[in-house]
Amino acid sequence: MRLFDPHIHMTSRTTDDYQSMYAVGVRALVEPAFWLGQPRTGVGSFTDYFDSLIGWERFRAGQYGIRHHCTIALNPKEANDPRCTPVLELLPRYLAKDGVVAVGEIGYDSMTPAEDEAFGRQLALAVEHGLPALVHTPHRDKLAGTRRTLDVVAESGLAPDRVLVDHLNELTVRPVAESGCWMGFSIYPDTKMDPDRMVALLRQYGLDRVLVNSAADWGHSDPLNTYRTGQAMLAAGFTDDQVRTVLWENPVAFYGQSGRLVLDELPGFSPAADTFAGNSVLRGGRAG
Ligand SMILES: [Zn+2]
Repeated sequence: MRLFDPHIHMTSRTTDDYQSMYAVGVRALVEPAFWLGQPRTGVGSFTDYFDSLIGWERFRAGQYGIRHHCTIALNPKEANDPRCTPVLELLPRYLAKDGVVAVGEIGYDSMTPAEDEAFGRQLALAVEHGLPALVHTPHRDKLAGTRRTLDVVAESGLAPDRVLVDHLNELTVRPVAESGCWMGFSIYPDTKMDPDRMVALLRQYGLDRVLVNSAADWGHSDPLNTYRTGQAMLAAGFTDDQVRTVLWENPVAFYGQSGRLVLDELPGFSPAADTFAGNSVLRGGRAG
């Protein structure tokens, strides 16, 4: 099984996670820019973080045989903090970089006027830079939030097939399916979507424009949930080809619209002498 996790926050994960992901077949991923749990107090915190997404984390993933890409944005939650919003001015510089495959995560957290403003401006940036957009849907008031999201997207001038609306469930999938946008599902360990509910949705809605991700981060989450969904699909009678469509070809088709995916094979982890800005992923010296 060759897998592409289209939404995972590796900055919050360990090298053990990279090793287990490689072992089950993950060969590529997209890491969306998001908040850190701890509120940021200024723009410098964003730029160091963005630099690490296009630099250190890409290098670290490569050491474990996984192709790393990212999306760049001011996240919906911090769009409400005036200490953070000036980062909007700096986004164009990052949207021009290799490895940046979309504007995201953007969208709504609490549906405030400040979020409206940041969402609209960042959809315009996606149009301007010829990039797709990754849109987060709120975890509260989900259906209203999703409908409003789709209205804003429709007004933005960004074509629906360049928009991925993420964190969907049984309640919110239909309007997104009808909109022509791509549908993203995050598979969490015990709440929200799980692999079996995902399989039921694939039966009902088909495989077109559907992406499945682990959305693993610093919270309770599981970086192997793309793999577990693939296993659940096979157990439910889907073919290897169908698993490949959902867990490899669909993310490649969506993020490939950036023209920036790099998908050729990397060797698995070998304790090579590579370093990034003088740092390797190893601790201290190496025997032999
Ligand atoms: Zn996320």
